[in-house]
Amino acid sequence: MSGTVRVIEDAPATLRSERARPVAGERAKILIVDDSPTVRKSLARVLHDSGIAGEIELAEDGLQAFKLLRSGKADIVVCDLNMPRCDGVQFLRLKSRDPELTDIPVIVLSGSDDAERRLTALTSGASDYVSKPCDANELVARLNVHLKLRKLQQELLRVNEELLRLTQTDPLTGVKNRRFLMDKLQEELDRARRYERPLSVAMLDIDHFKHINDTYGHPAGDAALVEIAALFGRTLRGQDTIARFGGEEFVVILPETDGDRAVLAAERLRTALMAHVVTDSGKRLPLTVSGGVVAFPHALISNAGDFLRLADAALYDAKRSGRNRITRAL
Ligand code: GH3
Ligand code: MG
Ligand code: MG
Repeated sequence: MSGTVRVIEDAPATLRSERARPVAGERAKILIVDDSPTVRKSLARVLHDSGIAGEIELAEDGLQAFKLLRSGKADIVVCDLNMPRCDGVQFLRLKSRDPELTDIPVIVLSGSDDAERRLTALTSGASDYVSKPCDANELVARLNVHLKLRKLQQELLRVNEELLRLTQTDPLTGVKNRRFLMDKLQEELDRARRYERPLSVAMLDIDHFKHINDTYGHPAGDAALVEIAALFGRTLRGQDTIARFGGEEFVVILPETDGDRAVLAAERLRTALMAHVVTDSGKRLPLTVSGGVVAFPHALISNAGDFLRLADAALYDAKRSGRNRITRAL
């Protein structure tokens, strides 16, 4: 049977070959865009029969295609170039402006005589083109190539996001780590300075944590740190950032927060910990926390390091004056 898709009245009823199999056993959601109902129908038939398509959507011009793509997110688009109202190139330009749609591949179907328009299509974001009339096997094979590429791209993106998350996360408690904190604090400080907004930091250190480890064992200490991080995270506002700064030390960044309100926020964490029962096999762990708070603007703060030094000095005062308290740097 012929594998050619003409501008077609008589599309092949079935089309099966080794090459026409879908990649990775998954069927794709394919959007077919063509102003000719006959072409739409025959393309749909070819793609359906090849086994590549799980779902097929049809659009008769670029604008309808764009709307369908936004509402349904097809995996791939097969698009005619010449269409009334909104043609293939206009569709590509619309699509390229929507960040959520940019990575959906578009295979352009073009008449073999319009080389210049094909070039325009490719420079406007088309992934590939197939000349009309086209070989059905070639069309399916190309769709498979681009579906596979997209899948690899998505996988790469996912792995990169996961790697980024891991580089920013403390493995024990799951809150942000020190590296993330330093970058974030500098960023928030730049922002606070530029827009003349308040910004505060609280450095929190669990009291006599060595004693907790010595009495209940290191694993119980670890479990307590996990619980404390979760408790602090729950108690803070969404825009605040909590990071594990060191062993049993946490730092909280409080954007848009002046010193008085930062002390209140740190007090909330301190009292939340006192009220929270952390147990080790039925025994209550006596956990308290001390904190140092510092607020920007401050004459001695010009970078993130200054911020933390002042917070640490305030924390030291809180420890020296009896622990289980919050002290503010002057
Ligand atoms: P202070 O009130 O002065 O802060 O006393 P402290 O005992 O908490 O302070 P110190 O700095 O002397 O000891 C910190 C303790 O925290 C000792 C260390 O074993 C423990 N620690 C640090 N990191 C971890 C951790 O990841 N897991 C556990 N279980 N313990 C940790
Ligand atoms: Mg401590
Ligand atoms: Mg400490």
